[in-house]
Amino acid sequence: MAQLQHRTPIESGCPDGFQYMHPLMLKNFGNWKYHEHPRPGVLRHIANSGEEIWTVRAGTQRILDVFTLRKLCDIGDQYADGHVRFTIRSNIEYMVSDESKVDPLIKALEDGGFIVGGTANSVAMISHTQGWLHCDIPGTDASGVVKSMMDELIDEFRNCTMPNRVHITTSCCQINCGGQGDIAINIQHTKPPKINHDLVGNVCERPSVVARCPVAAIRPAMVNNKPSLEVDEKKCICCGACYPPCPPMQINDAEHSKLAIWVGGNHSNARSKPSFQKLVAAGIPNNPPRWPEATAIVKRILKVYKEDARDWERINDWIDRIGWPRFFELTGLPFTKFHIDNWRGARKSLNASTYIRF
Ligand code: SF4
Ligand code: SF4
Repeated sequence: MAQLQHRTPIESGCPDGFQYMHPLMLKNFGNWKYHEHPRPGVLRHIANSGEEIWTVRAGTQRILDVFTLRKLCDIGDQYADGHVRFTIRSNIEYMVSDESKVDPLIKALEDGGFIVGGTANSVAMISHTQGWLHCDIPGTDASGVVKSMMDELIDEFRNCTMPNRVHITTSCCQINCGGQGDIAINIQHTKPPKINHDLVGNVCERPSVVARCPVAAIRPAMVNNKPSLEVDEKKCICCGACYPPCPPMQINDAEHSKLAIWVGGNHSNARSKPSFQKLVAAGIPNNPPRWPEATAIVKRILKVYKEDARDWERINDWIDRIGWPRFFELTGLPFTKFHIDNWRGARKSLNASTYIRF
């Protein structure tokens, strides 16, 4: 019998980016001499060959409908050289080879309702996680928080008036993706999960759920003659890690799932070590559709940072210089018992809180 011919596997994963690059970028790859920032939202890169490329950046809402995508692509075809790319903060960038194409491109974007900016010392687009649209465990809608906050920070996106750039992030659960930045707005559960004992036996793989808990607060139990689970609420840190593998352990709650704001996260770079963000505001209402309480706190932090930080200081550098007590004084945010990390593993984690020691 003839040997079966196996089909060639279809590769998946990230495609080779070079095939989509603007030809000028491809030609000068690895051979750029310097770059300039002629105005907010525009970058000019000059290659050793003398060729130059202009980049125009506009914010997008990340979760894009097909009509908006088509509109953005049409602008790229008509006013740019037919190439676009998305940044990790959901901005779209157009590359053009000639300065004379920059102004018509910006006009087309602004006429289309898009905001040009997000470069250098601005508040860049807030990076966010999936929210209610895609994920199965969110306690809030990260995209909605982003939209309502960026509506209020629009001038900080299109102008470069901050001491240094500001990265804001949101995260719609307490344990998974997102949530690290100069300012992070994250979900914060404040009550242990509620268990629907009728469903656990049929839906959850109990050993995996037990293994998932970081503080060993879950154990198997028989409830109403059915296999289920129980939670030692004194141990539970309300992280929500048991909810993804076991949806009957519902942790999201209209009243008790709150937002928390963390400040001062930054990656390491050539000059400094990574810095970890610290909790500065807790128990903020998770209040759709505009989240006014969280937005007000973010605006308050940004205002003080803008007034008090020196040029080039990122938020973490500024707080390192003035100290956390002064940060709370300047921002007027209350320092409460919730800022003190009193978890039993705290011997190892106290340095990650703003807890002030004498
Ligand atoms: S942060 Fe959590 S809830 Fe939000 S998309 Fe990621 S895993 Fe899902
Ligand atoms: S919420 Fe977190 S700490 Fe509490 S039981 Fe679930 S996994 Fe354990």
